[in-house]
Amino acid sequence: MAFTFLLKGTIPELAAPRLRLIHKWTTHLLRPERQRITAILILTFLPLALFAILATVETQQLTSKAWNSVQQSDHYQAARYQVGAEESLERKYRLEPSAAVLQRHTDAGAALVSILKTLRSEVVPDEQRQIDGILRLHKQYLDAVHTQLFPAVDAHDLARQTAVDTGLIDPMFDTLQEEVNKASVAHNMVAKQHVRQLMWIQKALVVVTPLVFILGLCVMCYFWFKFQLQQTRLDEVTSQAMAHLKTEATTDSLTALGNHRAFQEALGEMMQRMTSGGQGFTLARLDIDEFKLINDRYGHLRGDQTLIDLGRILTAQFPGHAYRVGGDEFALLMPGDGDRAMPLLNSLSATLRHEQLPTLSVGLMSASQAISSPDDLQQQADQALYEAKRQGRDRIVTFQSIADRATLTGHDQVVSFRNLLMAGHMDIAFQPIWSCPPDDQSTVTLLGFEALARPAAGSGFAGPQELFDLAARLNRSLALDDLCWSSTLKRCHGLPAGALLFLNLTPQTLDQETPLAPRLLAAVNAAGLHPGQIVLEVTERSVGHMSAVLHQAKLLRDAGFRLALDDVGAGNAGLEMLRQLHVDFVKIDRSVVSAAPMDTVTNGVLAAIMAYARVTGVRVIIEGIETADMLRNGTSMGADVAHGHLLAAQGYLLGRPGTNFDVMPPVLDNFTQ
Ligand code: GH3
Ligand code: MG
Repeated sequence: MAFTFLLKGTIPELAAPRLRLIHKWTTHLLRPERQRITAILILTFLPLALFAILATVETQQLTSKAWNSVQQSDHYQAARYQVGAEESLERKYRLEPSAAVLQRHTDAGAALVSILKTLRSEVVPDEQRQIDGILRLHKQYLDAVHTQLFPAVDAHDLARQTAVDTGLIDPMFDTLQEEVNKASVAHNMVAKQHVRQLMWIQKALVVVTPLVFILGLCVMCYFWFKFQLQQTRLDEVTSQAMAHLKTEATTDSLTALGNHRAFQEALGEMMQRMTSGGQGFTLARLDIDEFKLINDRYGHLRGDQTLIDLGRILTAQFPGHAYRVGGDEFALLMPGDGDRAMPLLNSLSATLRHEQLPTLSVGLMSASQAISSPDDLQQQADQALYEAKRQGRDRIVTFQSIADRATLTGHDQVVSFRNLLMAGHMDIAFQPIWSCPPDDQSTVTLLGFEALARPAAGSGFAGPQELFDLAARLNRSLALDDLCWSSTLKRCHGLPAGALLFLNLTPQTLDQETPLAPRLLAAVNAAGLHPGQIVLEVTERSVGHMSAVLHQAKLLRDAGFRLALDDVGAGNAGLEMLRQLHVDFVKIDRSVVSAAPMDTVTNGVLAAIMAYARVTGVRVIIEGIETADMLRNGTSMGADVAHGHLLAAQGYLLGRPGTNFDVMPPVLDNFTQ
């Protein structure tokens, strides 16, 4: 039995698992039913089939028997006739002997023999013996007639005729006639009996066949009824399964809140209602503050429990309006504008405090006719949320309050960015940094590796710069840096002994109140390294709040990390950063090294950096070395710096970024020429 399911209104990518579930349900519920029906079917049709076969075989056997019996009976009738003919011809010959009568008598005898022989081939051995007896008797009779009786007739010897006839022929002929008659009567009776049996069977079939037909009809009706019943049940089960699956597809399994899909559907509906004159509403994006710390410190189960607790509170305070849209991200769709939403959100914060749950950062955006799409609305609420994070978390920020600073980013890129963070993996390449000894700069030794993020092809980003720029615009630099560290540290078990690992920090990551050092320290220790092996690169480009960056940098140094000031000479904080930030390395930007030989001002900047290094003892790393000339220029400028200090370089000439730490020192034969 095959059933076809029509999954009306389902989402194609969900159809396969749904079908599997429906199949499981229907199989589970209907299998016993199907087994019962099959059993009844077999029990009903098997006897019917047996009856039909037996009736056919029996009828066929009886018909054949009756036919044989009738035929044998006919043969015996013919034998009787020939015996009678022989007797009358014998008498006729005695009255008027002639050759013709003699011949006819002989023919009748031959016919009788032929009939008896035919019969003999058709009967059972007992009867064959009986026929053999008759044939023997007949032969004796013929012998007696032809050798004794007919010669006496031909001799007109009446006395001998009478003596032969009464003494020999008559007793013989009577026995012969009696045997043939007896067999003929017996066969006639058997034939009649077989015909009677056949008639009886046919009568029985006349009665039984309609009964069988009625029974079959009843079975058919029964199955039709059962099938209808089963079909109804199947429809019920299917619609129940569909309803269940629809709920499942739009419900978050952990918190029982609506999930991202449900949120998108509800947002679309509310936008549509509003644009057709309905009530306005406010979208709040909520993100748990420092949620990773809960997972890291107390384990994922505790993290899950926190999400469940928050889900319970949101369900109670915003029934039907709360959704879990991502890992620790929630959304509320609240009727009315931001002013109406504010007290409700404050009350939520109070409940969380009371239940000792972590704080939330909230971004608010009220929907208005001016907003054209759900995507814009979400993006604006997201930006407000990121601003709340940037301002130090545990606060509510409305998009209106940051509208003058915010720029909208393509929704696809935001989605790609979010997917990247959710995936929790970033490809990392390691570029070697080589120390150049002051006396023989053609022989280099390994100083360490800089970890470089490489967003995978198909991630939605052309390169790392685009990714980091977007993270900065969304105020998600910390999350991205976090992803890069964790991906790097997962792979650093092959770091050669004595080599340093250079990790980049974006300015926004440092420009925040929450101390970074404990988090980074925990991650480095968990990877089996110690902070002295790690050099944190701080770029001097676009630093916002210098004091916050300096404070974070100090805490990181205190935790044992080394620091490098990156992109020196190309940024805008320049000397101020060099003055205030105590670093172990300065990394001179490629643009400075390449322009210095042709441009006296740039040359002056390079000389100033070298002078700074000479005075402070800070080590210098020249970046972006692609040709022997660049390396020669850079190292000649820094020759006196290298005297007693370490000058190092990195760039394609010295080693391209690779996927492992397996590198050989570059051969720089031309360098000293
Ligand atoms: P921020 O204040 O910047 O939001 O910091 P955060 O630590 O909360 O960072 P973020 O929001 O980027 O990270 C959310 C983390 O939530 C990432 C992931 O490890 C965790 N997470 C996601 N889904 C689940 C889940 O279902 N259960 C648990 N226990 N953790 C989850
Ligand atoms: Mg969070």
